[in-house]
Amino acid sequence: MLSVLLSGSRLVVGLHPDPGLAMIIGAFAFALGASIASFLNVVIWRVPRGESIVRPPSHCPKCNAPIRWWQNIPILSWLALRGRCANCREPISPRYVIVEFIGGTLFLSAFLKYASSNLLFLPFAWIWISLMIVGSFIDFDHKLLPDFVTVGGMVLGVLCGVLGAVLNASLADLIWSLGGLALGFSLLWLVRFFGSKAFGREAMGLGDVFLMGAVGALFGPVAVLVTLIISSVLGSIVGLAMVAFAKTRLGHFAEIPYGPYICLGCLVWMFYGPGLVSAYLNLFR
Ligand SMILES: [Zn+2]
Repeated sequence: MLSVLLSGSRLVVGLHPDPGLAMIIGAFAFALGASIASFLNVVIWRVPRGESIVRPPSHCPKCNAPIRWWQNIPILSWLALRGRCANCREPISPRYVIVEFIGGTLFLSAFLKYASSNLLFLPFAWIWISLMIVGSFIDFDHKLLPDFVTVGGMVLGVLCGVLGAVLNASLADLIWSLGGLALGFSLLWLVRFFGSKAFGREAMGLGDVFLMGAVGALFGPVAVLVTLIISSVLGSIVGLAMVAFAKTRLGHFAEIPYGPYICLGCLVWMFYGPGLVSAYLNLFR
């Protein structure tokens, strides 16, 4: 069920459960992701407000009634209570359950993607997914990216490179990671520098620069280029749509948070990246 083999000089650790067990582990991965996302909801709400993430325990924001453990089961409790507080019946924002669903789906996707071919990377992928969820929603709400997400992501990526270098007895993984970090950081730093000149104001936060550095440290230089293209296209489409629907003016374009689009671009890379790159290269054959 667990395979450890050498492919060339690379150590490949994979999990190959039979179909029944795979479904059980997959369901566990989804439940783990949803539960962690339930905690991430607390982080997203409290950290930018300078509140403790452990005290006080979860309570209804309207009536302050404490939320019991059986009212706090990810997704299921919200559905069972039909999106209302069990005490005062005030509606609870569907965003909480959406974040839990995103967490479950991404943890399951990462399990399906990495378990059989790169099992040792799975914990890193799960931590990075958690950091991206927190960073994206805090950036949407407050237009800032916390350091523990961006700097934390860079440290996580370099750790991954170090682990790869030790396990494979080769510096290749570490060089790839540091190269990605340098490319992601310097590319976005240049975009920020020239963007700020063009707009005559800060075009992009330093957090976005660090975030792209983290993408590079975790996934390498090619991932940086693909993430940059996808996030710019997605961000521009949403930005122009907001201008068209008069939600914002063109001059306020620079105020649209870029972090969530970097994260979306990175997710596309994680789950479809190599296929996208080879499809693109095939266009020229
Ligand atoms: Zn209540």
